[in-house]
Amino acid sequence: MNNPQISFVIPLYNEEENFQKLTERIDSVMNNSSLKLEVVLINDGSQDNTPILMAQKALNDKRYNCVFLSRNHGHQLALTAGLVKARGSEGVFILDGDLQDPPELLEPFYSKLKEDYDVVYAVRKKRKEGLIKKILYLSYYRILKSISYINLPLDSGDFSMVSRRVIDVMNTMPEESRYLRGMRSWIGFKQIGIEYERSERHAGESKYSFKQLFSLAFNGIFNFSEFPISFIMYLGASTTLLALCYLVYTLIMLVVGEVPRGFTTLLFVIILFSGVQLLSLGLIGQYVLRIFFQVKKRPLFVISKQIVDGKKQED
Ligand code: UDP
Ligand code: MG
Repeated sequence: MNNPQISFVIPLYNEEENFQKLTERIDSVMNNSSLKLEVVLINDGSQDNTPILMAQKALNDKRYNCVFLSRNHGHQLALTAGLVKARGSEGVFILDGDLQDPPELLEPFYSKLKEDYDVVYAVRKKRKEGLIKKILYLSYYRILKSISYINLPLDSGDFSMVSRRVIDVMNTMPEESRYLRGMRSWIGFKQIGIEYERSERHAGESKYSFKQLFSLAFNGIFNFSEFPISFIMYLGASTTLLALCYLVYTLIMLVVGEVPRGFTTLLFVIILFSGVQLLSLGLIGQYVLRIFFQVKKRPLFVISKQIVDGKKQED
């Protein structure tokens, strides 16, 4: 289809167990909709049968287009590739491939887009994850919101519908360490949240490794907040002040005739402040790391092949 109104964009990494159900539900949404729709599936270097299933589907159903990345690039970059390839003239509907984000919400999201909103993001009413993950997510979003210099909505991930003009802006943003939900808020225009109940993953385990999850969380903090730098500054200022007070106290004690002693205290202070200094270096290092990778100006992702309108295209 050459002129879809809305593109579904779905990154997939080892989702063979979910593929059948996912496409069944999307097909039923598409068959019952009067909109012109396309689906852009991105294979993020899966090692299972996901790419084969994708190719079979796309060769049989021209509404499905596939992008195959050269290796695993991670969810945010796979999504970025999909946003670049999506042709929806009115917007893009971003979903996960594990059916945690119901495709049936297409119409309610689209009706908000028609009400002149540029970003319609989903807000999770309830999470069906383990207690520790729930607490971590809950506190992370709240901390990030309180320290960020942009207005980030609480409890909302990438699941959203965004207008063509937002996608066009996003596609021109060259940042390498991508935190798409932050970039989406940064772009602005009229944005609205819609509450929904996030389902459990249909099959399989989460495809986000702990390392990837941490790196995403770090990207949110270091790309959308100046807090770590101000934190170091305030910490430095307050310890200097503390040291000055202590100096005055020591001088007074000297006059009185009693000099404070204490090897343990000395050791404690040295260890404490060595730690503080290393922490500060690490925080600054996070920014330096981001500059380091950004100045390389590498492409954000590499595509090995595509299937567009039922035809294979080698890159
Ligand atoms: N995903 C991906 N690349 C990765 C990890 C995940 O494309 O390196 C996809 C995954 O297949 C799914 C979506 O990103 O469609 C969200 O991942 P997941 O459901 O594992 O994350 P969670 O819901 O546990 O945060
Ligand atoms: Mg999931």
